[in-house]
Amino acid sequence: MTQHPPKNLREQVKVAPYTTMRVGGPCDFFAEVDDVAGVAAACEWAGEQEIEVFVLGEGSNVIVSDAGLHRLVLKIEIPGFEVIDEDDESATLQIGAGEHWDHVVERAVKLDLAGIEAMSMIPGTAGATPVQNAGAYGQEIANTLVEVQAYDRLIHKMATLNREECGFGYRDSAFKGAMSGRYVIVGVTLKLSKQPPAEPTYASLKRYLEAQDIHKPNVAQIRSAVMAVRARILPDPSVVPNAGSFFKNPIVNKRELDRLRLPYPDMPAFEFGDDYKLAAGWLLDQCGLKGAEHYGLKLHSGHALVITNPNHAGYADLMKLVEYVVAVVYDRFGVTLEPEPQFIT
Ligand code: NAP
Repeated sequence: MTQHPPKNLREQVKVAPYTTMRVGGPCDFFAEVDDVAGVAAACEWAGEQEIEVFVLGEGSNVIVSDAGLHRLVLKIEIPGFEVIDEDDESATLQIGAGEHWDHVVERAVKLDLAGIEAMSMIPGTAGATPVQNAGAYGQEIANTLVEVQAYDRLIHKMATLNREECGFGYRDSAFKGAMSGRYVIVGVTLKLSKQPPAEPTYASLKRYLEAQDIHKPNVAQIRSAVMAVRARILPDPSVVPNAGSFFKNPIVNKRELDRLRLPYPDMPAFEFGDDYKLAAGWLLDQCGLKGAEHYGLKLHSGHALVITNPNHAGYADLMKLVEYVVAVVYDRFGVTLEPEPQFIT
């Protein structure tokens, strides 16, 4: 059966305004979908036309090439927030992929549910959180996710993937790797706890809570603390274009850490399984990159890990800056930084 084009299909739409970094040329086709049937129909139409599909949420973790995309950009706007199961210990939430993530956290916290409160103010949609296993202040989506509902473009059917099938790693999942391009996430199921939340271990949060004389904080207090701390150091993407943390924290083994700590005994490192996680922001600070401006872009003065794009520089300039930063850090420490956002060309 020949599929109709998606509703409100537009052609030659500039992608930059749909990303928080404000980088990206025109795509051949653009459509917004707000239900599962719309996702399936759009994917089938694109398949018939032999057009690649690129799935977009709020564009907070993608960098799109200025050359444009010969693809259908499918912007997911599927709503939904429902408690589908609960007992004395926990509640299970069904969430539409298009929900603004922070609204999900806000509503969960209002229900006094624990598990995602530290992930307050992470920009983007709920459906994007499994893709990079979004996380902050010791919580990550993999900890509370029960399953992902997705349209499987390979077999043209809806599928559910459990936590193991998502292949989660540190700020990583199989949606970025082996399963890249196969699934369009339409919903996520989370299981949150009715128990008191885990106490924050991150120094900035602890300091903030202590200053407020809050001990054993509840979920609302942790959310407020995260929001206050983040607002102090991170630029608001609706004001200054940026894609959040631009580099992942490097993971090194003990031998590598010992090598690094010989000349830099104060280098922060956190146990990570058998390995150690370095703080990418600290490495950038040591290289004097906080606040540095190159190629029209800037490493944020409040937090060097965030590259800001105040003058709406293009993809090529951003790539030059990334190359420069990676080289400077490598020359100083022998550690290779890896970008966190996905580059779409
Ligand atoms: P920070 O407190 O200055 O710490 C620097 C880094 O050290 C963090 O990135 C964190 O790794 C790690 N770290 C600090 N205390 C830790 C602890 N007690 N246990 C384990 N690891 C610890 O961090 P920040 O840069 O201001 O960021 C605060 C949190 O917000 C972090 O979790 C960060 O990932 C998150 N964040 C995420 C984005 C994003 O776009 N994804 C943007 C900004 C901030 P982790 O990053 O692994 O937590």
